[in-house]
Amino acid sequence: MKTTTEAQKIIHKDGKMIVPNKVLIPFIEGDGTGPDIWHATKNVVDAAVKIAFNGEKEISWVEVLAGQKAFDSTKDWLPKQTIEKIKDLKVAIKGPLSTPTGGGIRSLNVTLRQIFDLYACVRPVRYFDGVSSPVKKPELVDLIIFRENIEDVYSGIEFKKDTKEVESLIAFLKTLGHSVRSDSGIGIKPISEFCSKRLVRKAIQYAIQNKKPSVTLVHKGNIQKFTEGAFCEWGYEVANEEFPVETISEKELYDKHNGKVPSGKIVIKDRIADNMFQQLLIRPDEYSVIATTNLNGDYLSDACAAQVGGLGIAPGANIGDEVAVFEATHGTAPKYANQDKVNPGSMILSAVMMLDHMGWTKAGELIVKAFEKTIMQKRVTYDLERQMTGATLLKTSQFADAIIENMK
Ligand code: NAP
Repeated sequence: MKTTTEAQKIIHKDGKMIVPNKVLIPFIEGDGTGPDIWHATKNVVDAAVKIAFNGEKEISWVEVLAGQKAFDSTKDWLPKQTIEKIKDLKVAIKGPLSTPTGGGIRSLNVTLRQIFDLYACVRPVRYFDGVSSPVKKPELVDLIIFRENIEDVYSGIEFKKDTKEVESLIAFLKTLGHSVRSDSGIGIKPISEFCSKRLVRKAIQYAIQNKKPSVTLVHKGNIQKFTEGAFCEWGYEVANEEFPVETISEKELYDKHNGKVPSGKIVIKDRIADNMFQQLLIRPDEYSVIATTNLNGDYLSDACAAQVGGLGIAPGANIGDEVAVFEATHGTAPKYANQDKVNPGSMILSAVMMLDHMGWTKAGELIVKAFEKTIMQKRVTYDLERQMTGATLLKTSQFADAIIENMK
């Protein structure tokens, strides 16, 4: 008699993640265009897992609520059950969430990252053949950005002009010899050794595991010495103290090796953020893994996504030591909500990152190949179609169907 196994949760044992063959994965549908791109993603992932593992593996999706859908049914934007479920099941995927305006409610996305200590925002950026790009050689872009996800100006320490808090801060700063205009608002930018080091450590570990040639520390240390500058110094400390065999600094490379990288070594470089924007435009192939602070990473990842064809195909992951939440880089694009119109690529490729994270790489590879093929066939959604000549315009759901067709 055929027995059906119950879906089980992912567990961590001896520092390793154990993923059962039939696994429970929570999802947040998201607001605006979220439901459209989520349904497309679910169909593509289910098909890929089925084909890649001959039905031996399966995802059992568990819906958890957040955003407007949660508020409408529970009067809570981020219900406690959602937090508990994600904490318990460890790996989740989410659609974009709109930030409720007014009432001082914090961004739900930022809140989720803080609650689960998802300290690394990981955003790979690569070119897909056939996509129109604003640069001459987009195929030279093959980067992965590790953006610190907890601190910096995102830590939410801000004081409004003309409040008691800002007045006392200004008075306090005066005692330290700093003069700040009385009509100022003030934001605080904390950058700690602990958070900087664990982010850079993750970036270097990724570079080692994936045989990447370099890790570049991007910072604005020429101006903000004790925050951005310190991030860079702590990054070099991690490389020197924890990975002396695997890494070499750019300085040592030129001082001792005439610029020739010794076999198997990963070069640790650093670049000031403004310079990095132009470097990535003119010499993107000199960069591979990037480790940077929160705000720099936010700007850089959208700029890099634009270089290879836009936000519609830019995936992302928020990763902590236990929990990981995968999500599209873009927002809810509310003007296109429920039109079955936008590109689900960003969420589909985020799901590929999730499958890789779970060790189900075979399914992820299948999706990427089919995705590449579909774009080469010029069967695309509006965002890519408007930039391609002779393309066939597909809806969100049709694009997902085309990918599934190309997997077979
Ligand atoms: P957005 O939702 O990212 O949309 C900006 C533009 O990007 C869209 O108008 C569209 O460009 C393009 N775009 C976005 N998603 C696309 C897709 N799937 N396919 C094709 N093109 C796409 O940014 P926003 O309008 O600034 O933000 C809207 C809401 O999303 C806000 O409430 C914001 O707080 C929230 N948000 C959430 C997240 C998150 O959940 N992680 C991230 C960012 C923003 P065209 O108009 O040119 O077609």
